[in-house]
Amino acid sequence: MPEPDNTRIVILGGGFGGLFVALELEKTLARDPNVNITVVNRENFFLFTPMLHEVAASDLDLTSIVNPARKLLRRVNFLEGDVERIDLQKKTVQVSHGVDHHHHEMPYGHLVIALGSITNFYGLPGLAERALTMKSLGDAIHLRNRLIAHLEHADPECGAALREPLLTFVVAGGGFAGVETVAGINDFVRDALRFYPNLKESDLRVVLVHPGPTILPELGEKLGTYAQKKLAERGVDIRVNVKVTGVSDDGVTLSDGTFLRSRMVVWTAGTSANPQLASLPCHLDHGRICVDSTLAVPGWPNVWALGDCALIPDERTGRFFPPTAQHALRQARVVARNITATERGGRRKKFSFATIGQLAAIGRRSGVANILGVNFSGFVAWWLWRSIYLSKLPRLEKKVRVALDWTLDLMFSKDLVQYQTFRAPSVSEEEMTQEGEPRGGKAA
Ligand SMILES: Cc1cc2nc3c(=O)[nH]c(=O)nc-3n(C[C@H](O)[C@H](O)[C@H](O)COP(=O)(O)OP(=O)(O)OC[C@H]3O[C@@H](n4cnc5c(N)ncnc54)[C@H](O)[C@@H]3O)c2cc1C
Repeated sequence: MPEPDNTRIVILGGGFGGLFVALELEKTLARDPNVNITVVNRENFFLFTPMLHEVAASDLDLTSIVNPARKLLRRVNFLEGDVERIDLQKKTVQVSHGVDHHHHEMPYGHLVIALGSITNFYGLPGLAERALTMKSLGDAIHLRNRLIAHLEHADPECGAALREPLLTFVVAGGGFAGVETVAGINDFVRDALRFYPNLKESDLRVVLVHPGPTILPELGEKLGTYAQKKLAERGVDIRVNVKVTGVSDDGVTLSDGTFLRSRMVVWTAGTSANPQLASLPCHLDHGRICVDSTLAVPGWPNVWALGDCALIPDERTGRFFPPTAQHALRQARVVARNITATERGGRRKKFSFATIGQLAAIGRRSGVANILGVNFSGFVAWWLWRSIYLSKLPRLEKKVRVALDWTLDLMFSKDLVQYQTFRAPSVSEEEMTQEGEPRGGKAA
C-alpha cells in the first residue's frame, strides 16, 4: 500500500502528456479507491493538435477534434482550472477555478507537470498585438472567423480599396504547423471565392515566410522541395531565407526589406516554455524542466515532467527528445509506469523512443510523409496522414464525426458561417416605455 501522502497524485495539464498519464494510471493506481488522482487543465477538453488546421480551414466542425476530459476519464478526477503557482517545497499547487476564479490549494504526493509550451513572438514589433496564432481551439476558430471576415469586408465595392491588405494572408514559419496552416488557408479562400462575386483569384495572395532554405526541414530537403513546388503551383507565394521582422496596421515587414500590405499574419514560428515554470527551484534550461531518463525531476522526489515543458535527454544520441505529440504520448506511459513502480514496487523504466514517422498535409488531397525512413508524397502521403491521425484521435464518437465531416467535404463546399458569440440585440433602458415596451409602439 502506498504511504497515505502519496495516494494523492496531481497531474498538471490535460494535453498529450498529462491526459495520457491519467489514462495509463486509470489501468493501475486509479483502480485503488484509496488513491486520488486529479488532472488540472485550463480547458475541459483534450485538443488533438495535428488536426487543428482542418478546423481553421473549415474542413472539420469546431468540436470534432476535441474530447471532453470527463468523457475520457472514468476513475481519475478532473478540475477545470488555471495553475497559478507550484510550490515544490510545500508540495502544493495553487489553482484558480470557476467563474469567480476562486482558489484551491491542492496538496500532492506525486506531481506530474505537463503544461506544454506557449507562443513566443521574440519581442518583434507589433506581433504580440496583431498576429494570429495556431496553438489552441480558440486560435483555429479565430483564424477561420478572420478569414471569412476579410472576404466579407473585401467583397462589396466599399472594400475595393482595401482588397490588397485584406486578401493578403501571411503565415510565418515553414514547419509543420505553418505549412499545414498555409495550405488550409489557401484551399479555403480559393474555394470560397465563388461565393464572393466581386473577388477574383488574382486578388488573393497567400504567402509563406520561412527562415531556412527549404520548408518542412524535419522531413528533409527532398520532401520539403516537393511541398514547396506543390504549394507554389496552387498559388502560395513561398519566401525562403527570410524572416518576419515586424507587423503594423498596414502590413508585414520581412528581413530582406520587403513590405507586404497585409492585415493578417499568422505566427507559427516560435514557442517557448510555459511561464508557470519560471519560478520553480528545480533545474531549468530555456524555461524547460530538466528531467532524468526516467522523467523524474532530480532533487525533487515524486515530481515528474514530460511533453513540451520538459527537457529529456536521449541517451542514444546525447541530444534531447523533440517536443512532439508522439513523444509526449509515449513519455506518458513511462511516467505512469514509474509512478506505479514507485508506489507498488518495481523497477523504473527509462524513456527511449525513435520517431516512427512524420507527416504533413499540404492541401488538395496531397501530403508529404517520412515513415520509418521511407518518403511518401502526393495522394498516398495525404491518405496516410488521414488514416494515421484518424486512428490516433481518441474516442469512437469523434472518429465517426471526423470521418463524416471528411465524407461530406467531398460532396459539399466548405462552410462559410462565422461563429459569433456576441449577445443578440435587446431593448435598452432609454428605448423603453414605463410599461416595459419599446418606444414607437408595441410589436405586432
Ligand atoms: C498546430 C499544431 C500542430 C501539431 N501537429 C503535430 C503533429 O502532427 N504531430 C506531432 O507529433 N505533434 C504535433 N504538434 C505538437 C504537439 O501538439 C505537442 O508536442 C504536444 O501537444 C505536447 O504535449 P504536452 O502535453 O506537452 O502539451 P499540450 O498538449 O500543449 O498540453 C498542455 C496542456 O496544459 C494546459 N495548460 C497550460 N498552462 C496551464 C495552466 N497554467 N493551467 C492549467 N492548464 C494549463 C493547456 O491548456 C494544455 O491543455 C502540433 C502542435 C500544434 C500547435
